Amino acid sequence: MTTPAPKSMDAIMALCKRRGFIYQASEIYGGINGFWDYGPLGAQMKKNLRDAWWQDMILSPCWGRKGPGGQRVHCVPLETCIIQHPKVWEASGHIAGFNDPMVDDKETKQRFRADQLSGLFPEPSIHSSLEQIRPQCTVIASTVGEAIELLSADKSLRKAAGVRAIGQSFPDAGVIEADFGTGMARWNVALVPMSLLRDHARDVPSPYTGKKGSLTEPRQFSLMFFTYTGAVLDEDNKVYLRPETAQGIFVQFKNVVDTSRVKVPFGIGNTGRSFRNEITPRNFTFRSREFEQAELEFFCHPSESQDWYAFWRDFRMDWWKAIGLAGDNLILREHEKDELSHYSIGTSDVEYRFPFTSPGFGELEGIAHRGCFDLTQHQQHSGVKQDYFDQERGDPLPNGSRKGERYLPHVIEPAAGLDRGALALICEGYTRDESRPSPEFLKLHPRIAPIKAAVFPLVNKDGMPEVAEKLHADLSRRFGHLGFIETDPKQSIGKRYARMDEAGCPFCFTIDGDTLTGQTVTLRDRDTGQQQRIAIDQAPAMLGEKLQR
Ligand code: ATP
Repeated sequence: MTTPAPKSMDAIMALCKRRGFIYQASEIYGGINGFWDYGPLGAQMKKNLRDAWWQDMILSPCWGRKGPGGQRVHCVPLETCIIQHPKVWEASGHIAGFNDPMVDDKETKQRFRADQLSGLFPEPSIHSSLEQIRPQCTVIASTVGEAIELLSADKSLRKAAGVRAIGQSFPDAGVIEADFGTGMARWNVALVPMSLLRDHARDVPSPYTGKKGSLTEPRQFSLMFFTYTGAVLDEDNKVYLRPETAQGIFVQFKNVVDTSRVKVPFGIGNTGRSFRNEITPRNFTFRSREFEQAELEFFCHPSESQDWYAFWRDFRMDWWKAIGLAGDNLILREHEKDELSHYSIGTSDVEYRFPFTSPGFGELEGIAHRGCFDLTQHQQHSGVKQDYFDQERGDPLPNGSRKGERYLPHVIEPAAGLDRGALALICEGYTRDESRPSPEFLKLHPRIAPIKAAVFPLVNKDGMPEVAEKLHADLSRRFGHLGFIETDPKQSIGKRYARMDEAGCPFCFTIDGDTLTGQTVTLRDRDTGQQQRIAIDQAPAMLGEKLQR
């Protein structure tokens, strides 16, 4: 099967700006790299995504599915601080290990992740300047596969339908080819493994200038933002902005067990902002420095952990499909053994083929079997016992009860990114159909769409605006907690439909002459453009039913 040509990221970003989904943060000051704000529609869309996660993970977990052995899936929420005691990050390993190797080009002052390709090529224009692309470059990678992956993820290559290697002279040199649809581009590539760069930085040509000797050796660069608490800015008062929400859950595990009558197996969920000082933030909101996570830590008995891992992995994949990503662009990828963190027994990623990763995929969510690593670490570093006494396990007693068993639960962690999720839904929903009067529209799932419905009078007279206003008020009262219900009496009806299509609004009700005589309205479907006539008093029930799907 061939991969379809990726959608235009420029067009998607333009729509996001034009319709108020996503803006550059601090734009009037020139923006700030790696930070994005959500406009009115984006803020509501992201809330809908967060609410869908909260509903399907915490309030009514897994749509009522039973867990392994028919067990009930039980989860509770938590809201924890962005700033925690610095020892939390020592225990979690973030202070020691949350680093990326960085290399500086001394001449151009460019800095890049030593294990990533960054800014090596001028932006190619499909029509004119393929030949301007630098014919020689250095890729800091150890294998052909890694080099292709890096090249495929590069912003300047996002218009290419595919990137592949030709020639067999690897591992240290070769030709990489990209297919732009209108022609092939080729690069002679020198492959430089990280280990070589570490030992012989002076012999490696700079990716920016092509000259040898201008690169520094790789240096560790911490991804954690820090600040100080209190008035004195010294090491003793240094604190970190959390790089993930998960640790806040682990350090409150005991409190939740002691205060909320939960029994293992159960989960604790948390959504909120996390911060990583990414070296090369890029690909729109995909890799930003401030982003939002939705994480669940599910605690279970070690003997059941593999089954719970499989359960959560499958459910999370089904969940992303159910809210609008049910196509070839979504995959579940099980990590190879050598990709796993040292403590992880298994990890799978839900990955989406973004236009800028195509033909490759980018991670939306990781589902990891973390064993008892985190609770063990916090137990050791805090000196506070984190084990759990399970009254329903252990040998049977004569009175019919059990002796009980004390153990450190194992943890399955589905960790999703809401910004990457929202971006994937926008990319998936973005559709061009030249046969429509207004060719661009956004097929968002009704649950996620920020505008749930619009009510239009066909013309702004003859009593139609009054009827529209009444229906609008009625729908807003019933469904306004789910998103916007719009109304707009001005402009041609075609323009009003087009605006709603671009905003991803799934349903439009129109009041026309027949409404006044026959008490009917038309209901227009965004994706097909088709209209059906229904009784006006059926409109709320009909919308309610459609929004539930
Ligand atoms: P990557 O390998 O892409 O850096 P990761 O494996 O470090 O991601 P996790 O630590 O597993 O990511 O975080 C869980 C989720 O948080 C990711 O699947 C992703 O959706 C989101 N996420 C992580 N880093 C970022 C970021 N810089 N910008 C936006 N979302 C992010």
